[in-house]
Amino acid sequence: MPEHDQDAALFDLVIVGAGPAGLTAGIYASRGRLKTVVLERNMAGGQIALTDLVENYPGFPEGVSGFDLSQKMKAQAEEFGAEVREIEGVTALAQDAEGRLAVTTDRGTFRARSVILAPGVEPRRSGVPGEAEFIGRGVSWCATCDGALYRGRTVAVIGGGDSAVEEGMFLTKFADKVYLVHRRDELRAAHIAQERCFDNAKMELVWDSVPRRIAGKDMVEALEVENVKTGEQRSLPVNGVFIYIGQDPNTAWLDGVVDLDEHGYILTDGLQRTSVPGVFACGDATAGPLKQIARAVGDGALAAVQAEKYIDALECALPDADSAVQDAEHAASRTERAAGGSAAPA
Ligand SMILES: Cc1cc2nc3c(=O)[nH]c(=O)nc-3n(C[C@H](O)[C@H](O)[C@H](O)COP(=O)(O)OP(=O)(O)OC[C@H]3O[C@@H](n4cnc5c(N)ncnc54)[C@H](O)[C@@H]3O)c2cc1C
Repeated sequence: MPEHDQDAALFDLVIVGAGPAGLTAGIYASRGRLKTVVLERNMAGGQIALTDLVENYPGFPEGVSGFDLSQKMKAQAEEFGAEVREIEGVTALAQDAEGRLAVTTDRGTFRARSVILAPGVEPRRSGVPGEAEFIGRGVSWCATCDGALYRGRTVAVIGGGDSAVEEGMFLTKFADKVYLVHRRDELRAAHIAQERCFDNAKMELVWDSVPRRIAGKDMVEALEVENVKTGEQRSLPVNGVFIYIGQDPNTAWLDGVVDLDEHGYILTDGLQRTSVPGVFACGDATAGPLKQIARAVGDGALAAVQAEKYIDALECALPDADSAVQDAEHAASRTERAAGGSAAPA
């Protein structure tokens, strides 16, 4: 039995995902007096909640803890009245013939005038033998979560981008040695991160190499790598393997619902509109360059402003009997919001 159903939960705006993009959309929408709910399948915060230090987000010259930043974004959205529901994953989005939107979660369904999709991305699996077998026993995608387990030990990081280099550097706080295994002979990370990496005596670069097997008995004991230029095989004696080789968008459930590109990223126009009227998208799950917080929050703000305009335009349309009822509910909810009342579904 769902905890809430379509009759109970009519929102102006349903936001899917409580990372920086979704939470920023929540701040703008709730401050704009839209009755807003943010649905998050895990805990609010998104990827930055798992990041040790964010150095490139404006306003923090000394850097800021990713977790602290994410919790402040959440608090700010709630402060303006957005409801943030955690551990409530969205499984489907549908639109009826009249254009009404329904967002289904594992606990019920929300009706919405507008929807913002901000589901972000998740780390890509390497597919290397041993990866699946040793998850939680030495294989990880989160240095912030698991780094402290490797105090005084040796780990390998696979990848050559910003995340691989920065998280590898973070791991040197705990580990005695960090191998950075990269398939090319130069890194893709920002130059400042590269310089720090090369200066760090605990980092050892393993160039032109790809992982072939993660080996061990109960726990990880070695990472076997192959040099792609020479064919030389090498076994690195490590206790942990951290994998940062890219991400995939959390959009499988949106296939056939909104237009996606060939990699599954949501296609939007310059106003964050998707192919479905009233449905907007923002952040890392959308197509385009720069998967970073600054872009996610900018996209989130624009998506919320556009959703508000879309809802305002709906209100100007000729109401039929049913939408007149919804308009009355909507007007009541906005009045309630303006008066500082709860946005929780009835
Ligand atoms: C290790 C690491 C370090 C990083 N460091 C930096 C940095 O220093 N500076 C920087 O600018 N960026 C950094 N980034 C990138 C930054 O974290 C992302 O660009 C940003 O988090 C994107 O925000 P988002 O809201 O689009 O997506 P996300 O942060 O991925 O949030 C999406 C949220 O949606 C939720 N979700 C997904 N599917 C569903 C569903 N079906 N139902 C409900 N909820 C769902 C997810 O659980 C998640 O909480 C880093 C990323 C990583 C992995």
